[in-house]
Amino acid sequence: MPAKKAKKATKKAVKRKSVKAVKYSYDFGQKTDGSSKLRELLGGKGANLAEMARIGLPVPPGFTITTDVCSYFYDNGRQYPKTLAAEVKASVAQIEKEVGKKLGADKNPLLLSVRSGARESMPGMMDTILNLGLNDKTVKALAKESGNAAFAYDCYRRFIQMYGDVVMGVQAVNENDHCPFEGILEKVRKEAGVELDNELTAKDLQELIKRYKAVIKQRTGTAFPQDAYEQLWGSVSAVFNSWQNERATLYRQKYGIPAAWGTAVNVQAMVFGNMGDTCATGVAFTRDPANGEKVFYGEYLINAQGEDVVAGIRTPNAIAELKKEMPKAHAALEAVRKKLEKHFKDMQDFEFTVEDGKLWMLQTRNGKRTGLAAVRIAVELVKEKLIDQKTALLKIPADSISSLLVAVFDPTAVAKAKTLTTGLPAGPGAASGKICFTAPEAEKVAAKGGRAILCRVETTPEDLRGMIAAEGILTSRGGVSSHAALVARQMNKVCVCGAAEVVINYGSETLKIGKKTFKNGDDISIDGTTGEIFAGAVATAPSEVDQVLNGKLKAKDSYTYQMYNQVMKWADKHRKLGVRTNADSPDQAKSAIAYGAQGIGLCRTEHMFFEGDRITFMRQMILAADEKQRRAALRKLLPFQRKDFTGLFKAMGGLPVTVRLLDPPLHEFLPHDESSKRELAKSLGVKVDVISSRVHALHESNPMLGHRGCRLGISYPEITEMQARAIFEAAASCYKLKKPIKVIPEVMIPLVGFADELKNQVAVVHRVAAEVMEKKGVKFKYLVGTMIEVPRGALTADEIAETAEFFSFGTNDLTQTGLGMSRDDAGSFLGQYKDLDILPQNPFASIDAAGVGQLVEIGVQKGRSTKGNLKLGVCGEHGGDPASIEFFHNAGLDYVSCSPPRVPVARLAAAQSALK
Ligand code: PEP
Ligand code: MG
Repeated sequence: MPAKKAKKATKKAVKRKSVKAVKYSYDFGQKTDGSSKLRELLGGKGANLAEMARIGLPVPPGFTITTDVCSYFYDNGRQYPKTLAAEVKASVAQIEKEVGKKLGADKNPLLLSVRSGARESMPGMMDTILNLGLNDKTVKALAKESGNAAFAYDCYRRFIQMYGDVVMGVQAVNENDHCPFEGILEKVRKEAGVELDNELTAKDLQELIKRYKAVIKQRTGTAFPQDAYEQLWGSVSAVFNSWQNERATLYRQKYGIPAAWGTAVNVQAMVFGNMGDTCATGVAFTRDPANGEKVFYGEYLINAQGEDVVAGIRTPNAIAELKKEMPKAHAALEAVRKKLEKHFKDMQDFEFTVEDGKLWMLQTRNGKRTGLAAVRIAVELVKEKLIDQKTALLKIPADSISSLLVAVFDPTAVAKAKTLTTGLPAGPGAASGKICFTAPEAEKVAAKGGRAILCRVETTPEDLRGMIAAEGILTSRGGVSSHAALVARQMNKVCVCGAAEVVINYGSETLKIGKKTFKNGDDISIDGTTGEIFAGAVATAPSEVDQVLNGKLKAKDSYTYQMYNQVMKWADKHRKLGVRTNADSPDQAKSAIAYGAQGIGLCRTEHMFFEGDRITFMRQMILAADEKQRRAALRKLLPFQRKDFTGLFKAMGGLPVTVRLLDPPLHEFLPHDESSKRELAKSLGVKVDVISSRVHALHESNPMLGHRGCRLGISYPEITEMQARAIFEAAASCYKLKKPIKVIPEVMIPLVGFADELKNQVAVVHRVAAEVMEKKGVKFKYLVGTMIEVPRGALTADEIAETAEFFSFGTNDLTQTGLGMSRDDAGSFLGQYKDLDILPQNPFASIDAAGVGQLVEIGVQKGRSTKGNLKLGVCGEHGGDPASIEFFHNAGLDYVSCSPPRVPVARLAAAQSALK
């Protein structure tokens, strides 16, 4: 390009750039730049503050620093974009204009709050700073102007405490250490002879501040900063830094929130709930987040700041009491509650402050809720005509339907158990387990396959790992919106919180309730629906849904069942995918049908041989030295198989049943210990040595890739013969019943990688079918198909489809063989893969769409290129995983098959996939 032209172009580019300069700070208040549509840029909190300001709710003015700044911060060695400082100054000036106060001024000082706000809320995971702008001078101005010195010094000490902890890193050194500031606070309270923080006088507080500053200086070597802008940038950086702290990272991993989203930072004029008895602060939900009931739910504290409510330090009052204490504020809140639901069309969780009788809104968001509440709220919002059926279906996380199926305490066991005390019911369900006082202990118990109840005075975000591992959570302090309650609800954990009579002593590792003392590891039971706490391990009983499905309870007597039924009806109307079940026994089949299964997608025949004598005959068959011995063992197995299949066909009443022929990695069935070898030798009438040498001969270094699947039937066609005979004879007997059941058996050949493997086995099946029909004098339809579970099977699906009448993707083995990762051994490194973000989730639980998913897509495309109407399903564990179900829906499968309790989840996930 000629130089002149280039210069012109550069000028133009500069001009364009300056015109389109990126905006990093969005104001809200009288001047509002953002709205709820800008959630990605402003985070959930920032976007909704702007939206509340837009719809006329009372929001203290402020501004949001965008998530773009967070990305810039991490991409540029924790530096900020050059233009940010000027924008922040202008935004602070706008707040100053709106409230008539000035940041850092000796007169009328403006105080600010600084809070995080990611696109998805991450309660308690990141840092917050309140009362910013206070220093040794401005505190005096605040004391004078408010006429309340104790209030001013209380704000200052809170600010120093938060800033010291979050920005300057003055914290407890381990989980059993106390926060140094709390330690000093307790000492000063004792010295002053008071019980509560708000009983401290201005003088006490001044002493406290002196000690706080000293501990900061002593621990960090730096003095607490006095400059308001230094405080502001220190706080903003702390919030951005907290996006990458350990607990936020762990939380993101658990909930699949990408690190690249970043957090926004919200800076807002402070309003005070702690200026005296005409002030209050609280958290409320427009409906009950634990059970979804349409009641105004929440709690507040008079004369306190917001963090006091969520931190669980003082147990707050129920919101209903505010009606008596502050009727005007309560009425204003009721109006806000209605307006919020009407506008956001969902249950809202909001924070408010009453300053001198005036209500201020500090935040609103779609409230976290238990699975039960998610279902109830969605169903009732449709009834109230706030949303339609499709929106309702998409609002219910598919997994949450299983919380309607969770166990409750067995009524007879509960009647016998003694209620020790009652706390607040914060996460429904029944849980019993071993008392653990720390998160690592709970993790240890869970890692050993045990059940832990994490018992803490109050939980903090540091306890997250333990909460994930525990069956249930019990706290002695804190209300229904404490950290423990919020997180437990979201994780669908059983939780009882604020049980004031529970005295936990970390030092002596004891939990006392009245005269009863429990030690670490003792059993305890908690009911998160009622709040009750029981000694020992109380037995559990089936859910109400199960009781109705089993005829033990009438549908009209169970609202839980009615909601479940409503959602399932809606789901069935919209889904395209069929839902079958993996079942090997009539009982499993019946339970799956009750949950709405439309057939059996996988009956693993080898599972039928684990019971009683059968394992012996099975071992005889596997260890047989020649065909004669093998046939003798197979003859003994035949009647069992026939009976099982008959039971299964009857239980399914004519619905499709896919029976997979034997696919055992042989090691699962071989006798390993001496006593079972002896027993087997006796039953076979041979010496133990003979058994030992056969076991030795059959030993495989890699049984998962060894003599299993169709390879067995190819080596020993008599096995396929026996199984086919059992299936067809069972089917024939169903046709001959007084009330015939028209079974159409689907025989499935496992682990096929070559078209000729399938041809070989199909020939045996067809021959036996003809023999049975001839002998029994009945004719019926049957299908022979295959599993696609090794990559070669998927890649040559067009050839395989020439013989197969259906495919079922065995995504367990397809993942194992596609990734070259043993399904039995991957556990030892998958955790680290997740931590390092190499794999976003366990590929054996949720399909690896980019890799294994391609094999499925190739299998679908190639299979249907040969047979346009080839029936396709999936029967790996992924068939019950909502994200995988969406993938299978998009891949064009006809059905998914999953374990019986996952059937309702799969029905809902299938509907959601169709509606997305
Ligand atoms: C599979 O491999 O996905 C499958 C369903 O078979 P199995 O788990 O029995 O190997
Ligand atoms: Mg398999």
